Amino acid sequence: MFKPNSDYLKLPGSYLFSTIAKKVNAYQQANPDNKIIRLGIGDVTQPLCPAVIEALHKAVDEQAVAETFRGYAPDLGYDFLRHAMAENDFRSRGCDIADDEIFISDGAKSDSGNIQEIFSQDAKIAVCDPVYPVYVDSNVMAGRTGDYDESTGIWSNVIYMPCTAENGFAPELPKETPDLIYLCFPNNPTGSAITKDQLQVWVDYANKVGAVIIFDAAYEAYISEDNVPHSIYECEGARTCAIELRSFSKNAGFTGLRLGATIIPHDLTVDFEGKKVQMHSLWARRHGTKYNGAPYIVQRAGEACYTDAGKAQIKDMVARYMKNANYILNGLKDAGYDVSGGVNSPYVWLRTPDNMTSWEFFDHLLEKANVVGTPGSGFGPSGEHYFRLTAFGSYENSVEALERIKKL
Ligand SMILES: *Cc1c(COP(=O)(O)O)cnc(C)c1O
Repeated sequence: MFKPNSDYLKLPGSYLFSTIAKKVNAYQQANPDNKIIRLGIGDVTQPLCPAVIEALHKAVDEQAVAETFRGYAPDLGYDFLRHAMAENDFRSRGCDIADDEIFISDGAKSDSGNIQEIFSQDAKIAVCDPVYPVYVDSNVMAGRTGDYDESTGIWSNVIYMPCTAENGFAPELPKETPDLIYLCFPNNPTGSAITKDQLQVWVDYANKVGAVIIFDAAYEAYISEDNVPHSIYECEGARTCAIELRSFSKNAGFTGLRLGATIIPHDLTVDFEGKKVQMHSLWARRHGTKYNGAPYIVQRAGEACYTDAGKAQIKDMVARYMKNANYILNGLKDAGYDVSGGVNSPYVWLRTPDNMTSWEFFDHLLEKANVVGTPGSGFGPSGEHYFRLTAFGSYENSVEALERIKKL
């Protein structure tokens, strides 16, 4: 008789977004005339830019002719895209990354979920709290996280690094030594960023204790401050301790198109059973066995993001979202809220007023202002009493939402 993978059964239900949807639907049904503004969305809303659309059309036409038709893509990605990324995302910033250290994929969600596979079963993980749930859940599925305590929302074998107002939403070095450290900056959900000096501390620490940092740079395009690093490879020594995840989703709007990349330097090695093991080879082997490459037309679309026109158009899209973020951030400040984020990221993170729980504030905002956001507690225990608003809506809606919130 077959048995299910019992590690999957350990996963607590992910009720966050379904609970939000249920509450919003119930409210809308009871109040059909009220216009609800959604500032909870974690998805882009602007259409793909013209440079990308043009590249897609051209690539589709190539697929229609035998001479230019392309079948299976190279497992690790087409050279044209790996080269464009290495040049524009890394070498132009002084980061020493070779084309063949870039693995093209269908996005950062799958890579951030899959990357744990190339590490040992007993690897101990450290995550920020609150956190993007994929890092923890993929390790639960792999049987690495121990037991779940429902009352605290904590796994017994995970190192949590609280990120709260007290530490400026930047994790502190853990007391217990981890093997894998997941960092995401600029951060989802808190919207906070860390400086290059702060990230350097982590790189030095990882090199010292023999840990690997998995650095999620999905929101890199939103950085507006000079001292915030766009890549972990801006830090000295990162080539021997860091894997970086990249995505075309939040900058270029590829959430539906799907494209990302994982960077593993050849210098990321470990001595194991008398051999020097390159983690690059393990990920290459994984890709070769389990993945057949991102579609040709999508990789051409990705390449177009690095043309002059593409760069300018993407900058424009990001600027539009950031105009909303700025409006929401300053509007909330004016209204007396305790807010952070929104400067290097499309997320604004606020402390709930009157010590309301995250869910109490959700109900309050929905019922009194008809505005929907995301309860911070849904991202981890340290997210309790916080709330996330996103800049992915329209400017008009951001303005109207703030008007309503100010009247509360
Ligand atoms: C949106 C997001 C991603 C991007 O995922 P894709 O699979 O590339 O769309 C990665 N990490 C975080 C933290 C995100 O919020």
